[in-house]
Amino acid sequence: MGRIKQFKKVLVANRGEIAIRIIRACRELGIRSVAIYSEEDKNSLFRTKADESYEIGKGKSPIDAYLDIDEIIRLAKAKGCDAIHPGYGFLAENAGFAEACEKSGIEFIGPTHEMMNALGDKIQSKLVAESVGVPTIPGVDKAISSEDEALEFAEKCGYPVMLKAAAGGGGRGMRIVRSSEELIPQFRSAHNEAVKAFGNGDIFIEKYLEEPKHIEVQVLGDKYGNLVHLYERDCSVQRRHQKVIEFTPALCLSDAQREAICNDAIKLAKAVDYRSAGTCEFLLDKSGQHYFIEMNTRVQVEHTVSELVTGIDIVQDMILIAEGYALDSERINIKSQKDVTMNGYAIQCRITTEDPANNFAPDTGTITEYRSAAGFGIRLDGGNGFTGSVISPYYDSLLVKVCSHARSFNDTVNKAVRALTEMRIEGVKTNIGFLLNVLNHPTFRAGNCNTGFINDNPELLN
Ligand code: ADP
Repeated sequence: MGRIKQFKKVLVANRGEIAIRIIRACRELGIRSVAIYSEEDKNSLFRTKADESYEIGKGKSPIDAYLDIDEIIRLAKAKGCDAIHPGYGFLAENAGFAEACEKSGIEFIGPTHEMMNALGDKIQSKLVAESVGVPTIPGVDKAISSEDEALEFAEKCGYPVMLKAAAGGGGRGMRIVRSSEELIPQFRSAHNEAVKAFGNGDIFIEKYLEEPKHIEVQVLGDKYGNLVHLYERDCSVQRRHQKVIEFTPALCLSDAQREAICNDAIKLAKAVDYRSAGTCEFLLDKSGQHYFIEMNTRVQVEHTVSELVTGIDIVQDMILIAEGYALDSERINIKSQKDVTMNGYAIQCRITTEDPANNFAPDTGTITEYRSAAGFGIRLDGGNGFTGSVISPYYDSLLVKVCSHARSFNDTVNKAVRALTEMRIEGVKTNIGFLLNVLNHPTFRAGNCNTGFINDNPELLN
């Protein structure tokens, strides 16, 4: 094992629930935490959880405040921080940020910028997968430069096809195309959306899989080439290609399928000598064949369920790995893959301040009543859930993540239902009723939802 550099202070370059999650991990490790906040977030809870907090991005938009690399690094240095944890979203997958941290002598708690660049965008990571024999969805693994080319490639691929933004995320820049007539207008709109959202209009094409399952594998690697997986998560319950409820283990996988998909995730991570926490995402077609779609080089919203069943604190381990601890060190204590075992089942429900009856439009306002769930087998990770909290329109509408953990899937669903029923949130609309409808649906209880589930069951919205 190389040299250990114990951190004294970590800057959390994020907001909301994930900022609190990281601040808690720091506190448990005896590390001071520094929060940054925009003017719009001056009354946000995460700020008060940190040991120190500083306003950033004066005069900038609420989002841009969290994206100013120079200002964040300057602040980290001025306040004596050893490291920065980026959370998810914002700068988490920005290789330039990771590189700027390194150049300033600040440890970026995540993979190196070289690893991020190697997995780069969705096209590049597919090429990495192919190079190590991990199956990918058939398609064209290069950016399409013209409408003619788009048409030619789509014909070759065979309809239906999926147009995807190379730099995509959050389900944006994606279009399903079922015939040649639709192709050009859809290509234009995907391209324009990608330019607007990601500043990169590169589009590629792959075969559209009908109602697949989304299965992803959590990996964890240290600085010395040791890598383990923390098994899979089933994230098939999605609305508009965005996850709503996640759980582990996936009921749809046989032991052989589980082993194959987890091995492929390790193969991929090994291909770039991956370190820190990361997730390899796959789609599973109706025959049960899995295909790699992308790697997320950060901690994910749904990391919680893997923590519950494995007992491994992913965020703490990210910090320890960045300090230089090996997986098999006393601190992390994962001597080999065999040390990662699954105990029971876990489900995460994302409570959002959205109105399901109004096409999930984000709702804003003051929370007038907030009563939380608690009790055996329930874990809550929240941002601004408290009476008097003002929900602004500026950020993601995720309010609190409710996780349940029990010995059987059925017990875990029952616990989730019990917890959501205990929650009482007034003053802003939430999706709790909708989440309960999903949890109580026989297809969900059978662990058998695919990505078309919400679309195919409009009665869930009532
Ligand atoms: P993003 O990065 O925007 O989240 P992903 O590539 O992770 O996009 O895909 C998100 C979701 O979109 C998947 O979980 C799946 O539901 C759907 N999807 C992506 N690619 C395909 C495809 N080729 N066929 C069918 N569905 C797809």
